Amino acid sequence: MASSHTVLMRLVASAYSIAQKAGTIVRRVIAEGDLGIVEKTCPTDLQTKADRLAQMSICSSLARKFPKLTIIGEEDLPAEEVDQELIEDGQWEEILKQPCPSQYRTIKEEDLVVWVDPLDGTKEYTEGLLDNVTVLIGIAYEGKAIAGVINQPYYNYQNNGKQKLREHRHEAKAGPDAVLGRTIWGVLGLGAFGFQLKEVPSGKHIITTTRSHSNKLVTDCVTAMNPDDVLRVGGAGNKIIQLIEGKASAYVFASPGCKKWDTCAPEVILHAVGGKLTDIHGNALQYNKEVKHMNSAGVLATLRNYDYYASRVPESVKNALVP
Ligand code: AMP
Ligand code: MG
Ligand code: MG
Repeated sequence: MASSHTVLMRLVASAYSIAQKAGTIVRRVIAEGDLGIVEKTCPTDLQTKADRLAQMSICSSLARKFPKLTIIGEEDLPAEEVDQELIEDGQWEEILKQPCPSQYRTIKEEDLVVWVDPLDGTKEYTEGLLDNVTVLIGIAYEGKAIAGVINQPYYNYQNNGKQKLREHRHEAKAGPDAVLGRTIWGVLGLGAFGFQLKEVPSGKHIITTTRSHSNKLVTDCVTAMNPDDVLRVGGAGNKIIQLIEGKASAYVFASPGCKKWDTCAPEVILHAVGGKLTDIHGNALQYNKEVKHMNSAGVLATLRNYDYYASRVPESVKNALVP
């Protein structure tokens, strides 16, 4: 029977369940104790068994249900039959109750590009900084990021104590009995859900930036923002969560290194609540399937007061970063 729901909303509802499943894989690999770490381009560019299994799970689950999608995942993996145990067939029904924004109602499956970061914050994952880790599924149409899902597998892991960690099928709650992990999702024109929007107190400039991939350009740019505080944490997904939950006012990364799968889903969540993410020059990022993967001119993102932070990027930093 043909579904009455649009392709976009069915895809987002499936991506929600698929990202949750990937989050359980990320937790399981840690619990089993063998991370299977592989160095990709350098010692700070790593891949673990969790990155591999989560990507197989996400990409195969999406491709089975939506065979005409273009799916671009971070990890280079050999084409092989994927274990049935890794396939997620569910969809989050709450999402299907929401209306599809009118401008997206006629989108066809073959018009969508999905950018998958199966585990964002791998370096931090290998160091036990587990709340830095997210699973990112971003959806683009005509080159623009329009929908996204972020699963944070270890949300609450410091609140509830190791003995109380438990799997869940429901939204996470704060407090000592909080369930482990949460999923945030959003669609432009509809909104973003799964968290409480909060702003940094006005007048405070709190910058969030990389902890594992810093260099002189990054620190020069952060210093030029005249920050009250600097939070050096892992993960692009994690840094956008800091912006929407009032922990940081700007995400500043004046360097190449971050890729389209890092920014696609987080950008949607931020844009859906009125924020802005661009490269360091102020250009919007493009997500069509032919685009180069690297965000060569870095990232500048804020929930509010984008113009203040953009105006403080030094010319020397801009000149060093070619889009
Ligand atoms: P970070 O803020 O360092 O966690 O970086 C955000 C995302 O960009 C992560 O997925 C990193 O792996 C990636 N990234 C940033 N800089 C680099 C780099 N120099 N080499 C490889 N990956 C990077
Ligand atoms: Mg990443
Ligand atoms: Mg990754």
